[in-house]
Amino acid sequence: MRCGLNGSPLGCNQTPTENADVSLTPSTTTLITELRDRVRGRVIGPDDADYDQARTVTMGGIDRHPVAIVCVADTDDVAQVIATAREAELELAVRSGGHSSAGHSVTEGGIVLDLRDMNAADFDLDAGTVWAQAGLSAGELTTQAAEHGVAVGFGDTGSVGIGGITLGGGIGYLGRKYGLTIDSLLAAEVVTADGQVLRASQDEHPDLFWALRGGGGNFGVVTGFQYRVHPLPSFYGGMLLLPATAETVAGFAAAADAAPDELSTIANVMPTPPMPFVPEEWHGKLAIMGMVGYAGEPDAGERAVAPFRALAEPIADMVRAMGYPEMYPPEDDSYHPLAVAHTLFIDHVDLPVAETIMQWLNDSDAAMRVAQLRVLGGAIARVAADATAYAHRSQPILVNVAAFYEGPDGKPIRQAWVEGFRDALRGDNHAAYVNFVGDEGDARVHDAYPAARFERLARIKAKYDPQNVFRLNQNVAPA
Ligand SMILES: Cc1cc2nc3c(=O)[nH]c(=O)nc-3n(C[C@H](O)[C@H](O)[C@H](O)COP(=O)(O)OP(=O)(O)OC[C@H]3O[C@@H](n4cnc5c(N)ncnc54)[C@H](O)[C@@H]3O)c2cc1C
Repeated sequence: MRCGLNGSPLGCNQTPTENADVSLTPSTTTLITELRDRVRGRVIGPDDADYDQARTVTMGGIDRHPVAIVCVADTDDVAQVIATAREAELELAVRSGGHSSAGHSVTEGGIVLDLRDMNAADFDLDAGTVWAQAGLSAGELTTQAAEHGVAVGFGDTGSVGIGGITLGGGIGYLGRKYGLTIDSLLAAEVVTADGQVLRASQDEHPDLFWALRGGGGNFGVVTGFQYRVHPLPSFYGGMLLLPATAETVAGFAAAADAAPDELSTIANVMPTPPMPFVPEEWHGKLAIMGMVGYAGEPDAGERAVAPFRALAEPIADMVRAMGYPEMYPPEDDSYHPLAVAHTLFIDHVDLPVAETIMQWLNDSDAAMRVAQLRVLGGAIARVAADATAYAHRSQPILVNVAAFYEGPDGKPIRQAWVEGFRDALRGDNHAAYVNFVGDEGDARVHDAYPAARFERLARIKAKYDPQNVFRLNQNVAPA
């Protein structure tokens, strides 16, 4: 049992307050008793010692008090929790890895359906597939897959749940080679709002399967994913820290675009953190923290990375032959940053765009501020535009601009900076990647799912969740 009990103790000032002011009313007590009668998994209520830990999500500043957190053990538990929430007319939050920047995986006064105890994986190497329960994190599944010499592509952070990242699309280090995470998805097991357990694939409930691949948590609780696994006997990657100038930023983007599909990159243009391997004179100065991943032989990887190394004398070069799971370094579970961020797509980073990026980063004094650039293309762009609910396959570069702040007073100035930076970069391209959208209102959901795609999702929503039971998400209301 790990739901509520793993992770680190509270202690950071951005984590939720203690539960002293959460009182158990008679109706809450009755509900918790009823849930305990109905499910096999553990039900955590405000009186339990690990309640605060269990309701803590990754991003800071999210301090919500659910009536109960149910660590579901199986699909039947999932159906029971959905039914209980509906009968009691309580808001239902669905949690896998807890990384939603909008805080969608925890609710004030509702029930959290926490999947983290459903964390088994069953590999069929002859068929080249794995069935993975939705409570696994990307890092956990990647580590298990590597033991079999295979991989599924997720994102850049091991603690992100496979639940959320898969349902939104999934952009990571294997993207240009094998596409989005959803491009390796073969089937999903889903518990719908009325408690049915459905299997969605190209042949079974194909409309649901289409919607699950990018449409987020709108259509039901996914309890398991079947992925195609990709042989990955060797991998070459790691961090390349380069001085940031307009020339190196534009050069990095050009090299990423020209690279073979085996190479996927992330360029974080940001002040250099005081990491032990970074010379002190670089601490706080703008650098490109480049993350590069080559899905193949080290010799070929070295050739693919050579143009990046040639951009400038690296400040640090940690790129080497490694096991793919090493791309997910250990994380500090007690870290819950307060951040303002905006996600957007752009179509090029030439010298003038890179100069704009450098100017905005130089003009802010936020201790942590970043322009994150991911050159996409490759296999992501080769899938037909309407094959899945993910809408932006032809967008060449995904950008996130973000700034961290200290307390509520610090937010407005960082917010204004992020919005100004965004406007300077995006022009009239308002497209958004749903997995990076925060609590930003309905218009941003339409930016993730433009026009006809939104309408198609709304029709599928009306079929599988007509009452909008699953609404604590980037919501597509039923048509
Ligand atoms: C530090 C960090 C790094 C990230 N890096 C990347 C990256 O490299 N690439 C990328 O593509 N994304 C990335 N993301 C975004 C990430 O994919 C989304 O935040 C995603 O929704 C997180 O999934 P989760 O399961 O951890 O989150 P949760 O907060 O548990 O879930 C988010 C939402 O997804 C839905 N959901 C989750 N699981 C299920 C389920 N089993 N059934 C139904 N609905 C479900 C629910 O609506 C839920 O509210 C990153 C986020 C963070 C915070």
